[in-house]
Amino acid sequence: MTEPAVDTQIKTWDEIKTTTCYMCACRCGIRVYLKDGTVKYIDGNRSHPVNKGVICGKGAAGIMQHYSPARLSKPLMRVGERGSGEFREIEWEEALRTATIWLSEVRNTDPKKLAFFTGRDQSQGLTGWWAAQFGTPNYAAHGGFCSVNMAAAGLYTFGGSFWEFGDPDWKHTKYFLLFGVAEDHASNPLKAGMGKLKARGAKIVSLNPIRTGYSAIADEWIGIRPGTDGLFVGALIHELLSAQKIDGEYLLRYTNAPWLVNENEGQADGGLFARNAQGAALVWDAHSGTPMPALSPDAEPKLMGRFMLPDGRRVVTSFQLIAERFLAAEHSPDRVATRCGVPAATIKRIAAELAQVAFEGQIELDIPWTDYAGRFHAKTVGRPVSMHAMRGISAHANGFQTCRTIHLLQIILGTIDVPGGFRYKAPFPKPSPPGVKPAGRPGQVNPNTPLPGPPLGFVTSPEDLLICEEGKPQRIDKAYSWEAPLAAHGMMHMVITNAAKRDPYGIDVLFMYMANMSWNSAMNVPDTLKYLTAKDETTGEYVIPKIIYSDAYASEMVHYADLILPDTTYLERWDCISLLDRPISEADGPADSIRQPVVEPDRDVRPFQTVLLDLGARLGLPGMTRLDGGPRYPGGYADYMVNHERAPGIGPLAGFRGPNGKAQGRGTPNLEQLQHYIDNGCHWFYELPDHMKYYRHVNWAYLDWATFFGFLGRPEPVIHQLYSEPLQKFRLAARGHGKIVPPTEHRKRIETYFDPIPFWYPPFEGEMVKEEEFPMHAVTQRPMAMYHSWGSQNAWLRQILGRNWLYIARAQAAKLGIGEGDWVNVISHHGTIKGQVKLMDGQNPETVWTWNAIGKRSNSWSLAADAPESKKGFLLNHLISELLPEREGGYRYSNSDPITGQAAWYDLRVRVEKAEDQSAVSEPQFSRLSSPRVSEERTGAQRVALGKARG
Ligand code: SF4
Repeated sequence: MTEPAVDTQIKTWDEIKTTTCYMCACRCGIRVYLKDGTVKYIDGNRSHPVNKGVICGKGAAGIMQHYSPARLSKPLMRVGERGSGEFREIEWEEALRTATIWLSEVRNTDPKKLAFFTGRDQSQGLTGWWAAQFGTPNYAAHGGFCSVNMAAAGLYTFGGSFWEFGDPDWKHTKYFLLFGVAEDHASNPLKAGMGKLKARGAKIVSLNPIRTGYSAIADEWIGIRPGTDGLFVGALIHELLSAQKIDGEYLLRYTNAPWLVNENEGQADGGLFARNAQGAALVWDAHSGTPMPALSPDAEPKLMGRFMLPDGRRVVTSFQLIAERFLAAEHSPDRVATRCGVPAATIKRIAAELAQVAFEGQIELDIPWTDYAGRFHAKTVGRPVSMHAMRGISAHANGFQTCRTIHLLQIILGTIDVPGGFRYKAPFPKPSPPGVKPAGRPGQVNPNTPLPGPPLGFVTSPEDLLICEEGKPQRIDKAYSWEAPLAAHGMMHMVITNAAKRDPYGIDVLFMYMANMSWNSAMNVPDTLKYLTAKDETTGEYVIPKIIYSDAYASEMVHYADLILPDTTYLERWDCISLLDRPISEADGPADSIRQPVVEPDRDVRPFQTVLLDLGARLGLPGMTRLDGGPRYPGGYADYMVNHERAPGIGPLAGFRGPNGKAQGRGTPNLEQLQHYIDNGCHWFYELPDHMKYYRHVNWAYLDWATFFGFLGRPEPVIHQLYSEPLQKFRLAARGHGKIVPPTEHRKRIETYFDPIPFWYPPFEGEMVKEEEFPMHAVTQRPMAMYHSWGSQNAWLRQILGRNWLYIARAQAAKLGIGEGDWVNVISHHGTIKGQVKLMDGQNPETVWTWNAIGKRSNSWSLAADAPESKKGFLLNHLISELLPEREGGYRYSNSDPITGQAAWYDLRVRVEKAEDQSAVSEPQFSRLSSPRVSEERTGAQRVALGKARG
C-alpha cells in the first residue's frame, strides 16, 4: 500500500464550541471548530433538535460571513451629506451619549416620534419589549414585508400556522402539498422532512410558477399562475364538498363549522354568531331540536341547516354558508382552470388523490387521549395529508384570504394536529386569534411612559384599532388603521415613505437594526433614496431628522444613516432563540437555544442587544433600570437572558430554570442557566408524553400543561375559526354599525375584503394596469445557497451565484424574439430595469423570474466596484411601487394586502422587450457608493469614507 501523499489526519482545530447558526432563519445547531482563537470550520450539531447534525451550504459558509471584509469596525457619525458615506469614527461612549440625547428628546415630548424597526432580527422578544418600555407604538420587525399573511391567517383560523408554528408530520404523512416559494423560511428542516417523504414513497405535489428548489424534487410540479392559488384551492374544496369527502366529526367537534350565525341581514348583529345570555356561541342540537352552547359536551350539533331560535332570530350554521360558497359553479375546476393556468382535470385529480389518501389511508396510533370535553379516545386517528406554504402565497394582496382558504382545506380534511397531518409546534396552538392587543391608541402614548402593552398584537374588532376619533392612523406605518386593520407585524415597507411625507405625521428619529431599507428591503428604491435624503425647504434640515442604524456589515443602508452602531457577527455574541419570541420548537415538544460567543470580536463593535439594554438604562426605561438608577442588566444581553422575567418564573429561556436548574418552562432564574445550555450543546428540548402530542388544540392534558408553561392563559380549547367573526365585525362597521365606523372612503374596501368566509379576488396591481400593456407576472425565488442580501457578499457563496439572470419560458421568449443571453428591458407601471436572459422550460409561461437580493449597489458590502453583483446583477425592487398604481382622483393605498398590510411583492406585472443596448451592464446603475479611502481631515476629527471604516 502506498503512503497517502497528503496527511488527512492533521488536527486542524484545538477546540470545538457549539452555538446556533444565523446564516438563515432556521436556527440550526452548529459546532464551530477553532484553532488559536480563529474559526476554521463549521458543521452541524448532531444533538440539536432542529437539524440533527445537518448543515447546509450557507451554514458551512458562516466562516466567510464571520470574516467578511464588509464588517463594520467602529461606531460612526456622519459628517458628509446623507448618502455620501462620509463618516467620522467615534468612541462608543460618544455614540451611546448621542443616541441617548436624541432618543430622550423624543421620549420627553412625544415617544411616537421614534420609529424603531428591525429586519432579520432574531431578538424580537427584546426589541418589542424595549419599544413598549420606550413608549412608542412605532415598532415592528420585517414580518409585514415578509410573510405576515401566512402567520396572521393561520392564527386567526386555527391558532397556528406553518414553519415556526407547525410542521407536517414527516413520519406519517403520505401526501404533501407545497405551495409557492418556501425555501427562504424552512431550509434544513424542510429538506430533511422531504427526504423522509421520498424515502417512504409519499407523494410530494408542488404548486409554484417556477420549478426550482423543492419544486424540482417534487413528484408532481404544477406551474400555477402567480396569485391564483386561492382559486385552485377553492376548486379542490368544491370537489371535496361535491364528493362529500370531508371529515364531519372533526368539523363538528373541533371547529366552529356548526356554530350558528345570525342571518338577520342589515341588523347590527347580522353575520355574528348567535349567543346565549352568557355570551356562549350556540349550535343546533340534533337530539333536542333546540340551541345549545357550542362547547357543551352533551350537544349533538347539526353541521348544516337553517333554524329559528326561540326568540325568533333566523340562524344558519357557518358550514352551511361555507358549503354554499364553495359549491357554487364559479368554484368548479372547469371555471377556474384557465385563470390558474392548470387543467381542470389536474385539479379534479389532485382533489381525488387528497380524498383517497385522507379517508382511505387513515392512520390510527395506539395512543389514548382525552379531549377538552372529557371524551376519552382509545386511539389517535389521523388523515395523512399535509401542506406547507410561505412567502409565495403570502406576498400577494389576496394572501390573507388565500392562506385562510388553504387552512380551510386542511381543516375540512381533518388534518390539523393529527398523525400524518399538520402538527403544532409549542407555544402553539394559541387562542385563535391570540388575546394580546396592540397598544398605541390615543391616550396610551405619553411622554416618559411605557406603553400599557406591546406594540404588536391581534385586533378583533374596530375598537382595537390604533386610530384617532377622526379615524386617522396613529402609527407611522398606518398599521392597525382602516388601511390595514389586522397588521399583526406592522408595515415596515411604508415607514420611510410615510415619514418623508409626514403622513400621518413626521418623526424625529428613525432607528433600524439589520434592515437594508435603502436597497433590497425597499419597494421603489429610487424614491426611497430620495426620501432618506429629502430636506425641509424652510429649515434645510432632513425631513427624517435623525437616523440611527445598527448592523454588522456595510450594507447599502449604512450610507444613509447618521449614527452607526456596529454589531458583532453571530459568532461573537450571546443570543437566545426564545419561546417568547420566534421559537424553534419541534412538533414533539418545545425547544429553545442560545448563541454563545465562540470568538471575541477583534474590532470595536458591540452586540446590538447589549447596546439596546445599555441605551434603555441610560434613558431610564423602567424595565431596564434599577430603583437606584443603575442598569438592571449590567451584564448585558446574557444577564437579561438569565434574569429577565416576563411573568413570575417565565423568562426568555425555558430550560434549566429554578434553584438547581431542573425546572422546565417555569421556575426562578438560575445563575448557572447559560452554562447548563452550553453543557447541553446550547439548546434545550422537552419531549411531550405521547398522549399530549396530537390534537393539542383540544387535548385536555396538553391544554393544562401548556397553561402551566405559560403558553396559554387558560386551559381552554382552541376551536378552529373557519368562519371569522372578527372579520365580520369589520364588515358590519363598514355597513355603518357600531360606535367606530370607517371613514366613507374606506368603507367599500373594508366591506369587500373583510369577508368572514375565505374567498379569492384578483391581486390589485393586475387589476389596475392594462393587461395588454403588462401581460406577464414577475416574481423572485430563493436560491438554496443564499439568504437575503448577506449571502451575495459571502466569498464562498458568491462563487455559486455571483449574479442573477431573468428567466423566461423558452416558448414565450421565442414569441418575443428573445434568445439565450439577450439583454432585455423589464418594464412595470412604475419603472424599467435591464437584465440578462436565461431560457427555461420549467416555469409558467406567463411569468418571468429571478433570484432575490443578489443585485448590489456598486461598492457596497466591500465588494469591488465592478463586482458582477452590481454590474450584471439587478433587483426587481426598482419595478415595484410601495403604492398601488395611481387612479384619477383616487386615494393611493399601499401596495399591500388590505387586511394585514402584507407587502404585495409578488403582484408585480411587467412586459419584457429585447433591449436596444446589448452592452453587458444591468440597469439602473445607481451612483457608486463611496470608495474605500481616507478622506481629507477638515474638522480636526478623523473623517473616513465608509470603505475605510469597514476594513
Ligand atoms: S438551514 Fe439555515 S440555520 Fe440551518 S445550517 Fe443552513 S443556514 Fe444555518
